[in-house]
Amino acid sequence: MGFLVGGCVRDLLLGLTPKDFDVATDALPEEVKKLFRNCRLVGRRFRLAHVFFGRETIEVATFRATSAPSQGDEPLPDTDPEDGEAPELDDESTTRAFDASGRILRDNVYGTIDEDVWRRDFTANALYYNIADFSIWDYVGGVEDIAARRLRLIGDPETRYREDPVRMLRAARFEAKLGFELDPDTARPITTLRELLSAVPPARLFDETLKLFLTGHGARSFEVLRRRGLLAALLPSVDSWFVSHPGSLVEKLLLQGLRNTDARVTEDKPVTPTFLFALLLYGPIAAIIEATPPERWHELATILDACDQAVREAQTHIAIPKRFALGVREMFALQPRLEHPRGRRALRVLEHPRFRAGYDLLLLRAEFGLAPPEMASWWTRLQEVTPAERERMADTLTGETRAPPASPRGGRRRRRRPKSRAAAPT
Ligand code: ATP
Ligand code: MG
Repeated sequence: MGFLVGGCVRDLLLGLTPKDFDVATDALPEEVKKLFRNCRLVGRRFRLAHVFFGRETIEVATFRATSAPSQGDEPLPDTDPEDGEAPELDDESTTRAFDASGRILRDNVYGTIDEDVWRRDFTANALYYNIADFSIWDYVGGVEDIAARRLRLIGDPETRYREDPVRMLRAARFEAKLGFELDPDTARPITTLRELLSAVPPARLFDETLKLFLTGHGARSFEVLRRRGLLAALLPSVDSWFVSHPGSLVEKLLLQGLRNTDARVTEDKPVTPTFLFALLLYGPIAAIIEATPPERWHELATILDACDQAVREAQTHIAIPKRFALGVREMFALQPRLEHPRGRRALRVLEHPRFRAGYDLLLLRAEFGLAPPEMASWWTRLQEVTPAERERMADTLTGETRAPPASPRGGRRRRRRPKSRAAAPT
């Protein structure tokens, strides 16, 4: 017995193209593995079979029994098992476990379809499409909620959020992505329970952050996260920066950057977490720079320290992989070099692996008066002309580099450039 389930059924009913296809079945993961050669079992917390068809991965989940804590569930473990590949079954992985706050640590107790439905998050995500006879099995009023564009948690919302606080972020994501309205009972507990997100493994929050911001509706996700108080739980330093700087240019820059990213997703162009985190952390980075004496604002060491501090703070909540954290650092380190190109050495910046991201950030900064627009146009032109013309452009620059210094805050201040060349290293 195999059903299409979850987001793909919902999206098809809405006339949207599903991002991926999830299958629910009464076959055990091991049986699925026997049936398909190109199959891998994944997940310890929630065991699944991944079946590969060319470039597509179909996620096949065995029906689960209901997930509420009940007698017979094992005692609370001290450890927090993270997801990961788990090819071997052992005693631990065939059970269900909760922590003291009611959070599900593991759910590998198998059941039937009419048990499986209750452990799904929203009614709109709990429709089963029977491939055999094209019927939709709806136990929870999901068809009606989709028609009404309503997002409603199955069961008692508070319990469901406690079981898995990520459901609060999923609510925000579907609100942003689908434009659904949150049912009042589903929305209400978020205010008081959002702090539970701090108990979620940071690697999972990283994955969820990418789904929120890099799948085509990032600008709306930002708006929803702020309105629901979830940004404060996910990235407190980012939220508090926006709270203390209402209507700032940096907020406009961030939103425009997210809109540009959304447009790239729509056009199927690549997007990167590096650029996303540079946008999100712009405010906190600027705040750290501004807390240093003004004469240091434009030094490379100041900029790098600020990036490191801001990233480190974010890392306590979201596991940002090192390569992206380093990318953010390089993007900001490039800003002074882009604002004050120095003769022919400027041309080498074009070869820098982060040039494109750094240049995109410069364009955004220039758009909002946080960097000199003439320098943004200079770099745009530089990329369009022949190598000979590039050299000429670089040569005519010499001597014009005593422009105001750079900082994420903006280069508008007229200030003597410190003698140090740290802000424009080569
Ligand atoms: P997307 O469009 O992002 O793929 P989706 O609804 O398919 O949305 P998935 O993360 O692919 O989301 O999950 C597939 C299905 O598994 C969901 O529709 C839902 O029924 C169930 N599910 C996923 N995550 C959870 C969760 N944290 N709690 C309960 N059910 C979940
Ligand atoms: Mg899906």
